[in-house]
Amino acid sequence: MTESLACIGLGANLGDMRAVLAAAYTQLQQLPGTRHHRCSPWFRSAPVDASGPDYLNAVACFDTTLSPQLLLEALQSIEHRHGRERPYRNAPRTLDLDLLLYGDQQIATPTLTVPHPRMHERAFVLLPLAALLPDAVIPGRGPVSTLMSSVAGQSVWRAD
Ligand code: ATP
Ligand code: CA
Ligand code: CA
Repeated sequence: MTESLACIGLGANLGDMRAVLAAAYTQLQQLPGTRHHRCSPWFRSAPVDASGPDYLNAVACFDTTLSPQLLLEALQSIEHRHGRERPYRNAPRTLDLDLLLYGDQQIATPTLTVPHPRMHERAFVLLPLAALLPDAVIPGRGPVSTLMSSVAGQSVWRAD
């Protein structure tokens, strides 16, 4: 079965964020059909287009035989286990898991867009992604290393 490299954005700004992100990464490692898991360092960021506490962010990647749609459902199940609620757009959250990249595929369905449509303009995604995969290229957008210069003004800093 074909394996693809999947990249997941992890974020939280409610509750014990370090504990929740660590637990979420453990749960990603336990997903069937996944191996070679790696996680970026953790970053803090100020909320974008929203008020509320600062975020803790990371990017994880792994090789997987799960389809993109099954992977999205698995991410939503992990979010649900950590009490994710969606009272309004960009609301503070206990856990957000976004499917950022799935190999070099470009996907557009009613429930799933890959690459994640806003990842290229978000420093809290690009910095951890570049720390994990410096040579990553976002299909349709370009190399992460090039995109980083356009988000240099955003407030993101290493959490450790
Ligand atoms: P943003 O998408 O701007 O980061 P968000 O993470 O707060 O915002 P959610 O409420 O978590 O948004 O997700 C809304 C919907 O986005 C989900 O129900 C899901 O179907 C859809 N979606 C589309 N593409 C993706 C993707 N690549 N990763 C995760 N969710 C996606
Ligand atoms: Ca998100
Ligand atoms: Ca999301």
